Amino acid sequence: MERPLQSSSRLLYKTGIAVIGAGQAGLSSAYYLKKQGLEVGRDFIVLDQSPYPGGAWQYRWPSLTLSTVNRIHDLPGLSFSDTVSGNSPEVQANIAVPHYFEVYEQTFGLTVYRPVKVTVVCERDGRFRMETDRGFFSAQGIINATGTWETPYIPAYPGAELFGGIQLHTKDYQAADTFIGKHVVIVGGGISAIQLLDEISQVTTTTWVTRKEPSFRSGPFGEEAGRAAVAMVEDRVRKGLPPGSVVSVTGLPVTPAIEAMKARGVLNRQPMFSEITAHGVRWPNGREVAADIILWCTGFRSSLDHLMPLMLREENGGIVMGGRLATMVAKDPRIHLVGYGPSASTIGANRAGRAAATELMDYLGLRSAGK
Ligand SMILES: Cc1cc2nc3c(=O)[nH]c(=O)nc-3n(C[C@H](O)[C@H](O)[C@H](O)COP(=O)(O)OP(=O)(O)OC[C@H]3O[C@@H](n4cnc5c(N)ncnc54)[C@H](O)[C@@H]3O)c2cc1C
Repeated sequence: MERPLQSSSRLLYKTGIAVIGAGQAGLSSAYYLKKQGLEVGRDFIVLDQSPYPGGAWQYRWPSLTLSTVNRIHDLPGLSFSDTVSGNSPEVQANIAVPHYFEVYEQTFGLTVYRPVKVTVVCERDGRFRMETDRGFFSAQGIINATGTWETPYIPAYPGAELFGGIQLHTKDYQAADTFIGKHVVIVGGGISAIQLLDEISQVTTTTWVTRKEPSFRSGPFGEEAGRAAVAMVEDRVRKGLPPGSVVSVTGLPVTPAIEAMKARGVLNRQPMFSEITAHGVRWPNGREVAADIILWCTGFRSSLDHLMPLMLREENGGIVMGGRLATMVAKDPRIHLVGYGPSASTIGANRAGRAAATELMDYLGLRSAGK
């Protein structure tokens, strides 16, 4: 298949499997498709809308470093640490991970067509037709690995449209300094909320609100607890329920940074407000806090809008998943979702890539396609 970027948008490129997205999940899938005999650019293609390697990591805020991320697991076949120059844990994740992915793509010859945004996938003559901003593609099967970064979630609250300040989401965050002199209401009980609260509360005043009482855990999150958390999410998606948030199953680790926040008195959690006003937020008892900024650290949803014509969702918004690691869409085994539900972590994405590549190749009878 020719590189499509210089081509006329009318051309249609045909392939066996289209991997949509080249983050951890997409690269893992591509690695196993290639390892099992398929040729990249001919038997399968990888499309990604971002300008550079790195998946969503290229967009993360500069203060997220290798010491503040949870943990980045290796992609199959190449160790992350071998690509990080120097040993400093203060290396920015938005530099180190994209560099790792770039080296990974080169090492295994995993050509990624970028930037190519898949806008709509629909069924045409027993194949999938993908409309993109760089032309049309057609594939027998799809491994969708589009992550969540493009779909920030902000819950609806009455009065949101009246607010005279600025409403931001985690996705917009770059540096705490931009908030100096402003009062910031930070919403959310996840790891990102806590990390941003930590940074912002060091330069300005903050109010922290969460829907539920945050659940801190003091011990390490062991392998067994990890497996149990994944099993819970897997169970949900096998039943066709929306995956749910990670923190709801893992809890928040009490780190030295959190101890320090407690000591500074900034972990003074307030229950969720009921209303947004022109000048701030208001609770049911009438108490108001004036705010310049509401920062919604309320998570993300899976970025699957381009698959809408395929009608995969149930009424509750979930998708019934099947297959060995719940990557296969039960309604249509030609579609796998990796980095979705139980595989929405770097380790989960790795494993899911292998399962999806193997099952999809078998289902489509592509085992003999490789040389
Ligand atoms: C702030 C933050 C910190 C995190 N820290 C950790 C951590 O420490 N450890 C961990 O295991 N997990 C962490 N996660 C979860 C993490 O996002 C996943 O583990 C993993 O990196 C996701 O990989 P992915 O391949 O599924 O998605 P992404 O990395 O988001 O990759 C998706 C790719 O798809 C492309 N794409 C999207 N839509 C389209 C489209 N329509 N057409 C073409 N291409 C498209 C994007 O350009 C992107 O390159 C974190 C998440 C967040 C938000």
